Amino acid sequence: MTGILGIGAFGSSRRNWSVARFLYYGLLALQHRGQEAVYIITADGDLHEAGGEGPVDYTLVKGVDDIPGYAGIGIVSPAEGISIHGDVALAGDGAPFLTGGWTSLTSKLSSLLNSSSPIDASVKILDEVPGAYSFIALTSDGTLMIARDPSGLRPLEVGSLGFDMGAVASESSALEVMGMKHVANVEPGEVVVMDGYSVEKAKVTRAGERSRLCSFEYVYMARHDSIMDWLPVYRVRVRIGEVLAEEAPAEADAVIGVPETAVPIAAGYSKASGIPLEIGFASTGRRTRTAIKGSGIDRLIGVQLKLNPVEAAVEDRDVVLVDDSVVRGTTLRNVVWALKRNGARRVHVRIGSPPLRAPCPYNSSIPEPDELIGSSLSEDQIAEVVGADSLRFLSLDGLIRSIGVPMDSLCLRCWGVRG
Ligand code: SF4
Repeated sequence: MTGILGIGAFGSSRRNWSVARFLYYGLLALQHRGQEAVYIITADGDLHEAGGEGPVDYTLVKGVDDIPGYAGIGIVSPAEGISIHGDVALAGDGAPFLTGGWTSLTSKLSSLLNSSSPIDASVKILDEVPGAYSFIALTSDGTLMIARDPSGLRPLEVGSLGFDMGAVASESSALEVMGMKHVANVEPGEVVVMDGYSVEKAKVTRAGERSRLCSFEYVYMARHDSIMDWLPVYRVRVRIGEVLAEEAPAEADAVIGVPETAVPIAAGYSKASGIPLEIGFASTGRRTRTAIKGSGIDRLIGVQLKLNPVEAAVEDRDVVLVDDSVVRGTTLRNVVWALKRNGARRVHVRIGSPPLRAPCPYNSSIPEPDELIGSSLSEDQIAEVVGADSLRFLSLDGLIRSIGVPMDSLCLRCWGVRG
């Protein structure tokens, strides 16, 4: 998972703006999409780079206000940072199918810019490089080149601060956190160039390619205050909970949603089942996503730091524990154990998605099938492994109904559906 962001000031007074602090807050809002590294690059005639390994508020906290630049890009990422080639910097999300990945794509864009305009060079990249990706590129004069490939699998949303600034980000919530108004999405196959004085657009199609939405964004990856491709993530998650309650009812005294992603799903389950929603856990420390963290120790510490049960909410009660998805089952086992240790009589686990069965070919951090507990064990077997009294997944049909778009407009590959 990766979060990208680009911002540029407009007009003759644009040199008075400094965008580094905007990038800082925007990337903080995208932190859940990548926790291992953060980079920003700004432009004011030269390129200025800052960042490194670590979370945003640790890595960028000092000196960010001293970084000059009236346009800039940023990235939060599990591994790599921004690529720079000559006069061009690029933040990318997804997987361009090109030997050398993002580094090669940046160098290709840089060479194309020697003989083509920014809009033509960006169109050429989408025309010639297959894969599923979005990118935001920046030249030292502050021109932003924004592109979302025709598959549409990596999201990009557009925001504005009146007539003063324009921005794009992986999620609309990052735009709002920067004080911007979310105004549109970058459409699949769309290229946008902003040079501070004008906005130019073009559209690219690929023969035989239809655009699809990444279903995992709505289940897990995106923040629930984001709107992606005009679909509010919160509304989809509440609907998932309602459908889950229809498909997998349980007798219980309380519904609890864990982690934070699952709280709207739990609210939907509670609404449809009539079982009260309770706040079953308090979290400590920085928000971490344990399922995508590197080592087993990191994951265990992440779980313990994140989740401390609220005994008064669960003691002597039968609990429906709602989670968004299950990767290895490690987090879930710890959560069930914590609930029982704090007095829960029975724990019925309800998962707001089908079993994960395959990694994502487009760089979303889903492990290989032998690490995915849902790819080899039945619901009852997983319940036994995690110590739950019952466990049920949302059906594939239930997921599609909850998102509310036709099946062929969705990527469902990590749930085991090829297409
Ligand atoms: Fe999204 Fe899963 Fe498709 Fe990857 S495989 S694009 S995570 S739905």
